Amino acid sequence: MTSLSGAQANLRNLFPRIRASETAYLDSAATTHKPESVITAMQRAAVEGYAPVHRGLYAEAESASSAYEAVREQCGNLLRFKPQEIVFTRSATESINAVAQSFLTPQLNPGDWVWVSELEHHANYLPWQRACQASGAELRVLKINYETGAASAEQIEELADSRTRMLAITGQSNVVGVMPQLEPLIQVAHAVGAAVLVDAAQCLTHQASELARLDADFIVFSGHKVFGPTGIGVLAARYHHLEQMEPWLVGGGMVDWVGEGAAKSEWSDIPARFEAGSPNYIGVIGLGAALDFVQKLPEREVAEHLLRIGSYAHHTLSQLPNIRMLTPASAAATGVISFIHERIHPHDLGQVCADHAVAVRAGHHCAQPLMASLDIPACLRASCSIYTSRADINRLMQALEHAERLFL
Ligand code: PLP
Repeated sequence: MTSLSGAQANLRNLFPRIRASETAYLDSAATTHKPESVITAMQRAAVEGYAPVHRGLYAEAESASSAYEAVREQCGNLLRFKPQEIVFTRSATESINAVAQSFLTPQLNPGDWVWVSELEHHANYLPWQRACQASGAELRVLKINYETGAASAEQIEELADSRTRMLAITGQSNVVGVMPQLEPLIQVAHAVGAAVLVDAAQCLTHQASELARLDADFIVFSGHKVFGPTGIGVLAARYHHLEQMEPWLVGGGMVDWVGEGAAKSEWSDIPARFEAGSPNYIGVIGLGAALDFVQKLPEREVAEHLLRIGSYAHHTLSQLPNIRMLTPASAAATGVISFIHERIHPHDLGQVCADHAVAVRAGHHCAQPLMASLDIPACLRASCSIYTSRADINRLMQALEHAERLFL
């Protein structure tokens, strides 16, 4: 088992790009770098193991199909869903859109309520907004206490209204790192017969066991934020919900019998019916290798590293003049640290950081509703991962101090 304790330098060494680059990479909430094991697995899949999935009877095609299905099982085991309840998509975004369009929209009526939180990424806001617009339902927004992660008693009472059809909520904000307390919200939503989707895009790496314990109807995440490739996402969905859903894409590999003319076709079994088109074999194998990597990391040590590095970043940043922290100290352990400078625009700061080869993100982070609730147009985000070092944070500090000298 890879150990983080006393061996953080070794861990950095597992990431070829981090090892070789001069850049202080502080943008892991946007996308994570890949360890050697993932790159090797994808390369092998592209060369030795390459064959179509579910489309050939020859040996290579059979073994590619088995390897692909083994990753489905791995995802199911990770989140405590059955293998048939795992659907491969392109991304968390596609997974959420699929649920909004194929599960929720057909059962939504005028006057129904769909809940999201104010922390949501646009990927977990716009699909529900569109479902509401199409049906005359109302999109309601839960406020989350930054310190406790709880919703207010009044809002929980509203959530318990029989008009509530769906709750779609993040496991962790991609901007302020806050992690809503999901369990009580799920209980309340279920008590009124509503379904719950958890957006695990930001928290899968360090919260897999907690997510597995939740009684969520749907859990979604993306490969590229868990040390895997882009272009592969997961939708974990309870079987009885999948039975209700029409395929959102139709085409090859998802149909048993094609009806003549406009006659009805017969879809393949679940989950094949939701994976139209040639499967993303290399992406799925890369995802499997990434999840292997994550599962071999001792969860407690990952958590301790993120706590150490996140707290260091939070503490040192908050010592700088003119800085207003948006991530509360209680969420520093997520490693997602956002802030604004009271007198320098985030884009100017982002540019100075770029000039110092410090990779941070400036902007609204695809979370405009959150920016509106914070009453700011944009902010700067430094996001850490298991390969982030104190030296990376120190480089950020130097860039920010230089910006102060430049602009003030
Ligand atoms: N949800 C959250 C919380 C995110 O941070 C992101 C991406 O940043 C997404 C969803 C969308 O992920 P993807 O772009 O991989 O679909």
